Amino acid sequence: MSVRIAVITGASSGIGEAMARLLARRGWRCVLVARREGILRGLASETGSEYEVCDVADRAAVDGMAARILERHPSVHLLVNGAGILVRGDFVETPLELIERVLAVNYLGGVWLTRGLLPGLREAADVDGRAHVVNIASIGGAIVFTPAAPYSASKHAQVAFSRSLRAALRGSGIDVHTVLPGFVTTPGFPHPKVFATRLGRLVVVGPERVARDILSAVERGRAEVVIPWFPYRLGAIAQAVAPTLTARVLRDAEYEDEA
Ligand code: NDP
Repeated sequence: MSVRIAVITGASSGIGEAMARLLARRGWRCVLVARREGILRGLASETGSEYEVCDVADRAAVDGMAARILERHPSVHLLVNGAGILVRGDFVETPLELIERVLAVNYLGGVWLTRGLLPGLREAADVDGRAHVVNIASIGGAIVFTPAAPYSASKHAQVAFSRSLRAALRGSGIDVHTVLPGFVTTPGFPHPKVFATRLGRLVVVGPERVARDILSAVERGRAEVVIPWFPYRLGAIAQAVAPTLTARVLRDAEYEDEA
């Protein structure tokens, strides 16, 4: 097989950056995607990667970028949809533009890029036997979280898209993986209050751990991973069994806003 190509959105920070560093160490050729060019340039030269500056919420920009990537790399073996923003506050408090923005970045961005790169993913599957799409959603996509309701809604949309995409592409050689992290310490999601308590620290993981678990899910063909499994999967089970009660219990959860 020729060199494997990975396209990673959200690569300038946090989980996406950790993913890029890990894949580069394992010999993948990465295309790093985000908006902050200076950071991308530095990481690309450090890891021997390429980069593309793009706002994933801008459909025309994503289409243009996908065309450029496919021109350079007709086969794309792995797409990681990791770009995301956190919007805190319930539905009533959140400015309307932010409600639209969080949906456009967290959900639609991944839809546009998956569509744009599909020919390259199909080519990789045909020529090399397999290609992968990783959608980095959130446990907030399996548990409604009223203190960040528009964010949680965007992540539910992303999870629904990811699960149905997996079913739709079954048999095509393109494997789709849905990733649901719990609290992860990253620049965009610092979680100072969670991290301040002993109990909190037990359920917070670093971005490198998430990146390792994602790569393992890809290598093992796992449909869905919650990182870490405990205690977050229990919340997802609770919502599946008793959604109204679970939402009520989490309604008044304190959520830091000083970050
Ligand atoms: P970071 O804020 O550290 O990284 C977010 C990345 O997304 C940055 O590289 C940012 O780059 C990029 N990004 C944001 N908006 C856009 C945009 N419009 N177009 C292109 N790129 C964009 O956060 P994390 O690493 O923590 O988050 C990564 C993913 O993991 C997100 O989808 C998040 O929802 C999810 N997640 C995170 C959790 C956590 O606790 N950290 C928990 C559960 C899920 P730039 O600003 O340069 O564009």
